[in-house]
Amino acid sequence: MRIPDHIRFVLDRLEARGRQAWCVGGCVRDSLLGRAPADWDVASAARPEEVLAWFPEFSAVEAGRAFGTVRLLLPEGPVEVTSFRTDGPYSGHRRPQSVRYAAAMEEDLARRDFTVNAMAWHPARGLRDPFGGRADLEAGVLRCVGDPVLRFQEDALRILRLLRFAAVLGFSIHPAAQAGACQCRGLLACLSPERVRAELDRLLCGSSVRLVLEENAALLFAALPELEPLSRCAQESPYHCWDVWGHTLRAVEAAPAAPLDRWAALLHDCGKPGVKAYGPDGRAHFYGHAQAGVELARALLARLRFSNQERETVLDLVELHGQVLPFSEKRLKRLLARLGPQGFGRLLGLMRADVLAQAPHLAAERLPLIDRAREEAQAILARGDCLTLGGLALRGGDLLALGVPPGPRLGRTLRQLLEEVLAGKLANEKPGLMARALELLEEGPNHM
Ligand code: ATP
Ligand code: MG
Repeated sequence: MRIPDHIRFVLDRLEARGRQAWCVGGCVRDSLLGRAPADWDVASAARPEEVLAWFPEFSAVEAGRAFGTVRLLLPEGPVEVTSFRTDGPYSGHRRPQSVRYAAAMEEDLARRDFTVNAMAWHPARGLRDPFGGRADLEAGVLRCVGDPVLRFQEDALRILRLLRFAAVLGFSIHPAAQAGACQCRGLLACLSPERVRAELDRLLCGSSVRLVLEENAALLFAALPELEPLSRCAQESPYHCWDVWGHTLRAVEAAPAAPLDRWAALLHDCGKPGVKAYGPDGRAHFYGHAQAGVELARALLARLRFSNQERETVLDLVELHGQVLPFSEKRLKRLLARLGPQGFGRLLGLMRADVLAQAPHLAAERLPLIDRAREEAQAILARGDCLTLGGLALRGGDLLALGVPPGPRLGRTLRQLLEEVLAGKLANEKPGLMARALELLEEGPNHM
């Protein structure tokens, strides 16, 4: 295992003061897997006040101090140093009420969630692996440290961490851990929405997300009850060869591996169960499912504390995912104007994932249409066609100079001009725009 110099420096300074210090947790797991660790955590016999005193040249974040953690801000990056500890009784299935410092690293490892996360490593002393984490790593198995039910009762977030690690690492879940998680799934409702979202972001981006959520759908539904009806909703349509939940998971898997794109895929058809109806042909229809999905998704995303901007990004995708291809030029321009180049790219990414999750004969037909829309949008952008108010050849200032008073009418006039330019009714040239603006202003507010 290779350890960065600045981590070695932290270990060495703690040990020079007579306190054992080890690399622990995710960095040991990832290093053994040959993956680059996201961060390096240090566990040590030193107390937080000692850590603070012994690294006086660095600033430190003390937010976790009550739990024994000090974050040292080294120039190479932050390093978390946590005192060996055991957790006191847990409250609210979320966090220990208190922690007690432990004398030995082995005791500290026992409080950790999964065996693969409960290993310690030191460059001179080597690996400490009291729970068989290395064997589980080699077998690709997630197993709880200790009794799964007790561990999930202590902290229900571990249920989502279990799914997250399974999805990200492509590991299987030990049957006892799965049974324990299932038994404790009702506790997921106690978790803070921020923590749920943070875990689900990572779970959704994992390369094994479909498999993990297929096998553990009940766990996800315990955290996101709004989605449970998807699993009981058949499509009954020649376009689909999976039920709505199966289709959704395939779309998630096919969507770009970034959180908002994956959330949009997870939610894109969530309105279907609510609007399912049978037509005279005896087939199921889902008219209005995108709009129904927007309403459901809006509430779900608000509950999980998505920012307004993130929420709008996802809701735009849910609303627009089902548009009929091919796009006319006018339609393309409107979408580009509404979503911006990046948002439009996202929409095509979702539409592509949606198509890949439908019956295979459709993909062959529809994927080229999506590629064509992408190319046409690029051409529009490259030509610099007017898409927004900023791109109009007529500015607010031009109208003010004509004596139009500032205010909402001026804004409405410009927006109307943009509409007509986007629709191809009007060329984006100043004289014509000016003439049309005067016409609109003369017609008065009733016409706008
Ligand atoms: P990553 O950094 O990739 O998310 P990680 O395993 O390092 O993975 P962290 O959340 O950084 O995860 O936690 C560091 C270590 O702390 C874990 O490896 C695990 O040993 C322990 N740990 C974290 N959260 C919990 C928890 N809820 N219950 C028990 N142990 C935990
Ligand atoms: Mg970590």
